Amino acid sequence: MRALVTGAAGFVGSTLVDRLLELGHHVVGVDAFTPYYGEQRKRDNLAEASAHPNFGLVEGDLCEIELGRVLDGADVVFHQAAQPGVRLSWSQGFEQYVHDNVVATQRLLEFVKDSSVERVVYASSSSVYGNAAAYPTTEDTLPAPHSPYGVTKLAAEHLCGLYAANYGVPTVSLRYFTVYGPRQRPDMATHRLVSAALTGTSFPLYGDGSHLRDFTFVDDIVDANIAAATADVPPGTVCNAAGGGEVSMADLIALVGELAGREVAIERLPEQPGDVKRTGGTIERAARLLSWSPKTPLEKGLRAQVDWHAAESPTP
Ligand code: NAD
Repeated sequence: MRALVTGAAGFVGSTLVDRLLELGHHVVGVDAFTPYYGEQRKRDNLAEASAHPNFGLVEGDLCEIELGRVLDGADVVFHQAAQPGVRLSWSQGFEQYVHDNVVATQRLLEFVKDSSVERVVYASSSSVYGNAAAYPTTEDTLPAPHSPYGVTKLAAEHLCGLYAANYGVPTVSLRYFTVYGPRQRPDMATHRLVSAALTGTSFPLYGDGSHLRDFTFVDDIVDANIAAATADVPPGTVCNAAGGGEVSMADLIALVGELAGREVAIERLPEQPGDVKRTGGTIERAARLLSWSPKTPLEKGLRAQVDWHAAESPTP
């Protein structure tokens, strides 16, 4: 396969790039190296791929680059690029989210519409559900985002749906539930928690620790993308990509403490606007349509993340 991976230097994108290269595919990556977190970390993510003969990198903004040329010859687009994170999406921050998440996706779909691309896999998010009416949440639940970030992820998912319905663009949207593992973004809770555990600093905990999250290991998310690339499903398909269970922040803190061999000191902070109380997704549809299910138990995935932190001592 000839794959185009947007957001190729990011946490999920770079892990996907490495796997596609391992499987013998040709990969073009696109990334704007946005300043949300350190550019060097993103360059490090691509260090191995950059030395691979089947990999090419286009540095630039999806809203500006020559997409016709970049898409030429691509069979599958894995659209991972976005401005992530809930907290900065309020106030003046929103404009960047609209640019990177909505405008960029619309422009990409316009070019895909006139190309020979056979599948677009879009990295959607559990944030489209907000505080859902029922758990574990099914894909048919009416989305009701609880943050401006979630609104932009849902808008882009709807764009995938409407380019599918109007033009037959073969999109599949995967709603990722809290992804963790090696290379995780430094703003994410598990990253901050593991860093705190390894360095003996305190972990700022928003809320009382009762929040529930459905954690999904990054390799399982990569598997879901690869399954979605070739599955025989109609354009506009939407599937949850969840870890298969819910864990409270308090239990996560205890587990990371055990794995790191040190109890984590907590700095209690108020709940943040935009944070939902609970996430949890059904995985039956992905199993049925994509023959995908998550394989990595939380403890095993966290062990891999702890080992990565310990080996890298990455700088924020
Ligand atoms: P990340 O920030 O590590 O990676 C995103 C990459 O996209 C970055 O390298 C950034 O430079 C690039 N980018 C942003 N805007 C761009 C633009 N306009 N043009 C080109 N490149 C651009 O984020 P991540 O955690 O790897 O997330 C990957 C995708 O998965 C995102 O779409 C995110 O919304 C989605 N997602 C992630 C999670 C999670 O838990 N990590 C959960 C749900 C959904």
